[in-house]
Amino acid sequence: MSSLTEQKPALYYNYVGGEWTESSSRERLESRNPATGEIIGFSQKSTVSDIEQAIDSVYDTFQKSDWGYNPKRRYEALLALAQKIDQNLEHLARVLTLEQGKTIRESRVELAGCVDTLKYFAGAARTVFGRSVQLEPANFGVIVKEPIGVVGLITPWNWPALLMIRELAPALAAGNGVIVKPASLTPGVSVEIFKLIDEIPDFPKGIASIVTGPGKSIGAAMGSSKKIDMISFTGDTSTGRTIMELAASNIKKLALELGGKSPNVVFADANLEKAIPVIGRGIFISAGQICMAGSRLLVHESVKDEVITRLKQYAENLQVGNGLLESTDMGPVVSQNQLELVEEYCEIGRREGTIITGGYRLTGGEYDKGYFFAPTIIDNLPVNCRVVREEIFGPVLAVQSFSSDEEALALANDTDFGLSAGVWTTNLNRAMRMSKGIKAGTVWVNTYNKNFPEAEFGGYKQSGLGRTRGIDGLMEYCETKHIHFEME
Ligand code: NAD
Repeated sequence: MSSLTEQKPALYYNYVGGEWTESSSRERLESRNPATGEIIGFSQKSTVSDIEQAIDSVYDTFQKSDWGYNPKRRYEALLALAQKIDQNLEHLARVLTLEQGKTIRESRVELAGCVDTLKYFAGAARTVFGRSVQLEPANFGVIVKEPIGVVGLITPWNWPALLMIRELAPALAAGNGVIVKPASLTPGVSVEIFKLIDEIPDFPKGIASIVTGPGKSIGAAMGSSKKIDMISFTGDTSTGRTIMELAASNIKKLALELGGKSPNVVFADANLEKAIPVIGRGIFISAGQICMAGSRLLVHESVKDEVITRLKQYAENLQVGNGLLESTDMGPVVSQNQLELVEEYCEIGRREGTIITGGYRLTGGEYDKGYFFAPTIIDNLPVNCRVVREEIFGPVLAVQSFSSDEEALALANDTDFGLSAGVWTTNLNRAMRMSKGIKAGTVWVNTYNKNFPEAEFGGYKQSGLGRTRGIDGLMEYCETKHIHFEME
């Protein structure tokens, strides 16, 4: 397996003011392959002064260039980036799998999502429409949408390419300057994408920067900086709370895409043939490290045994291994720390419920080098068990059952989160009632995990603030101004 990954570790620099720069600390962060433990790259361990310099440089470019009022330039730039990512997709997918651990097939899907998102927002850059309104006989209002200014993007490690592009594309399409701080476990793919940005003349040098380093110092400095007008953060709910506090310094605009504990609700009349693989994929994709993971299975008691038996079979058939192998269905979790967290939750599950399958770290042979965990299903958990209530971010499915539609809806909403949900039924009335009743930003009916750049995504309750994707996602990155004309 190691022959798959043997290569010299990559060295990643910051990109500031259109130049590749080293951190003033001269220190580096190492990235390891979660499948083998090998060091695969080094990135800059940047300081607060590095990030301040980068913010100033984005601000200067935003002020001096025509970026904020040249939509065709933005369209050309974003489209060119889409094309370059497409041309370099295999290389980027390999970088992503090496640093994140996900399967190479999933990395390709993630990067194809980047291409699609960039194409959509390239077009949208030319449609940042406002409105006009006659207010009184002599008074006419024009409502314009303007860029906010300097936007800071702080991104997580689980889908590092798409979650950066998901925000970078609308932020740039709206005409802002952007500074990105990627997660320290997975900086490589983001910096590789910035290498492509550097090759595109339509991006003014310095309008987009990337600075790598610890969230607690440089991420926090972005949160509290008075020169950043908006922070778009994707990550853990508790970090989102900290960022809200930091952003209070200058009443920054915020977009927060946070955690989830999403239910898949299976009724007795569901098409199980279709539902089982989709529900299985909904929790075991990315080894469960995905915000919208369908980590709670709510199943009608009359079909519970059948659903559990079939899902157990699905889980046990998954090929867990090095993500670079085309045959792998599920890679490792991202780090030792993440592995220990998942183990801890499974211990709770073992004490308070019944492990149907999995529940342990995979060991022996190549598994010993990486952070591999068996796909896990846990049943008979009390409703207040931490495995049912908290986001685990690992391949662990918690099962609960219900006997009526009312109970299903109450269980689905019995969570602090509200990111997404799946409803499985062939009854249209039930599908309507459930999808209207569930408090979540996305409800999929008879499917799961379907996302499109043109369809809004985001969280109710503690899953976030604001919406990403779609027209609302573009408008998050705009200020609204009323210009008023009075005729004589
Ligand atoms: P995290 O909150 O630990 O880190 C996210 C980013 O914040 C990283 O870049 C990190 O360096 C930075 N950071 C950490 N502390 C900071 C601080 N004090 N100030 C500023 N920045 C700081 O999250 P993670 O572990 O990288 O990602 C997993 C989490 O992300 C999960 O909770 C998952 O549900 C969530 N997520 C949400 C979505 C969504 O769209 N809603 C998508 C993906 C992931």
